[in-house]
Amino acid sequence: MSAPQTPKGPNTRLVHAARRVKGMAKDLVNPPVERASTILFERAEDLYARRPEQRYYGRYGTASQSALCDAISDLEGAAGTVLAPSGLAACTLALSAVSKPGGHMLITDSVYGPTRNFCDQILTSRGLEIEYFDPRAGADLQNQIRDNTCAIFLESPGSLTLEINDLPAIAALAQARGIPTLVDNTWAAGWFLKPLAMGIDYSIQAATKYHTGHSDVLMGAVASRDEAGAKLMHQYAFLNGNTVSPDDAYLTLRGMRTMGVRIAHQQQSALKIAQWLSGRDEVMRVLHPALPEHPDHELWKRDFTGASGLFSIVLDPVSPEKVHDFVNALSLFGIGFSWGGFESLVIHCDPQIKRTAGSWDASGPLVRFSIGLEDTDDLIADIEAALAVLK
Ligand SMILES: *Cc1c(COP(=O)(O)O)cnc(C)c1O
Repeated sequence: MSAPQTPKGPNTRLVHAARRVKGMAKDLVNPPVERASTILFERAEDLYARRPEQRYYGRYGTASQSALCDAISDLEGAAGTVLAPSGLAACTLALSAVSKPGGHMLITDSVYGPTRNFCDQILTSRGLEIEYFDPRAGADLQNQIRDNTCAIFLESPGSLTLEINDLPAIAALAQARGIPTLVDNTWAAGWFLKPLAMGIDYSIQAATKYHTGHSDVLMGAVASRDEAGAKLMHQYAFLNGNTVSPDDAYLTLRGMRTMGVRIAHQQQSALKIAQWLSGRDEVMRVLHPALPEHPDHELWKRDFTGASGLFSIVLDPVSPEKVHDFVNALSLFGIGFSWGGFESLVIHCDPQIKRTAGSWDASGPLVRFSIGLEDTDDLIADIEAALAVLK
């Protein structure tokens, strides 16, 4: 095989990114798992004369981690990527790195619950002021910016209620004031949304979801728009002793090779199921941004190139027991946290929803589906049978 040309399409890039690392055997398809704490040097004086990119201790990564970083940087269009041991750890690493003593942070009100808990319980205890804003605020967010605002944290769409943030508008108003912006980009997997190209400074992934794709690895990543941001995140992770295992990095990169085809199937299947659900009497609303009736559909169309397999429905008001009967009656959907794997999942969301700002008005119980790789018609038949318990 001759040297690959500059790859063009996103699937070609995903297949070819980060396939060669220094020193690896020429006949291997994949960069190997390099397990190491100690890395040996030839001579005593080499230990302190190392080049910045040279590996020198396992905590700072081997080829396994750096290949994954390179692949995620390629996917996100990033100047650099740091890994974290979970998606939540990536969110907290990035938030900690941009935090300032006495600072004020603006956080989207539909943010992932554990990220919210970190803000409320850790950042506030370190003297930061946390303020939540309406996910649909858009350019109006400028009214909530203060002199000491040190970061704006977004998540688009919110992973339970699916509101979309106006990323270009918020990036523009933050850049004009020198305020860093971060987005939890897990729903779109860095595949259907490119926040860094819109001027957002940090794109955060729970790579646990679509990147790994098989519900068996925890992994997080922070991809930075520019060199200064990449250096800040790298330095923060470095000083904290933050690290991930080479085996998990290997599995995540292996998952990424097929992410494009998996997510394309999941997109199609989820959309068909969402459309079918929107015609059902038992369902009050379907929260899927690719449906024209979604309140942020126009924003989604403008900013995203597609939709992943995660969406929610609002059922007509019934008791929580009835919702549980419905969820329990599904036979092809596992009940459990996380999403983005090859298998379909479902959860009843109401106990998780915590809102203090903005426009969320459920008016019925919320159920979230993560659509996997099963045949769509089988999933629809399963949901149809389960809906019968609501009658
Ligand atoms: C799952 C998830 C996370 C956390 O990822 P973990 O790897 O489970 O820690 C963060 N943000 C969003 C939007 C998620 O769905």
